Amino acid sequence: MSGRVGVMLTLCTSSMVAIQLVSVADEITIGRQTQAETRKTTPELSDSSVRAYVTKIGNQLGGQARGEKYPYSFSIADYREINAFALPGGPVWVNRGAIQAAGTESQLAGILAHEVAHVAQRHAAQQLSNMIVTNMGMTLFSALLGNTGAAMAANIAARYVAGGTFLKFSRDDEDEADRVGADIMARAGWDPHGMIDLLETVREQEKRDPSSVEVFFSNHPAPKDRIALLAQAVPAKRSGKRDSAEFQSVRARLRKLPPARSMTKKQ
Ligand SMILES: [Zn+2]
Repeated sequence: MSGRVGVMLTLCTSSMVAIQLVSVADEITIGRQTQAETRKTTPELSDSSVRAYVTKIGNQLGGQARGEKYPYSFSIADYREINAFALPGGPVWVNRGAIQAAGTESQLAGILAHEVAHVAQRHAAQQLSNMIVTNMGMTLFSALLGNTGAAMAANIAARYVAGGTFLKFSRDDEDEADRVGADIMARAGWDPHGMIDLLETVREQEKRDPSSVEVFFSNHPAPKDRIALLAQAVPAKRSGKRDSAEFQSVRARLRKLPPARSMTKKQ
């Protein structure tokens, strides 16, 4: 008994990194609730063939993620800005602007693989765990290790969503999502350099249309730093699939649809 308390104290004072209070099942439940809330406030692209294509690519990547098997889903927000995000336990969103900015299929796969990696590495669950510990303090901490932990996590997650704050990951989590995402891409058959290519595309787009990359820059590390990290993480020699006729026809189709909305301007 006293030994257990001692372990908890040690973990708590060493920045709580190793404590995981949210089970995979709870994480999936929290993700479903968060997804329902997100749907209410996000304009979703209705084009069924583009949706089917993105889901197909996403599921191929999700199938190569290591660790727990999550029920991945891939939704397209009809926004012009480049952005993507993952909710706990499987739901991934990508903006139409990111699909249109990507020059090749492997660039799109790079965006999706990064988000799949956030889910597979349980970054949101870990963040929620840390918040529970921080919010509750040491006195209630041992009680949280029991059945109340899940209820508490759901409660905190709900407040999170109600407050309109999307999960912003730490620099370490972002770096890991790039490294793990590149590995997932390669194992699913794509050229992991696609992730670097996408970041180069984002840098070019910043020069032409700065407002379209503002959100992306506010919730991800600088592309220059990510490119440096990825250049070390992926094999120098390119291999794997880079593009497809299907991706190019999806892009052509998107260009013909009514323009996407803006995340920042009221329309
Ligand atoms: Zn990220």
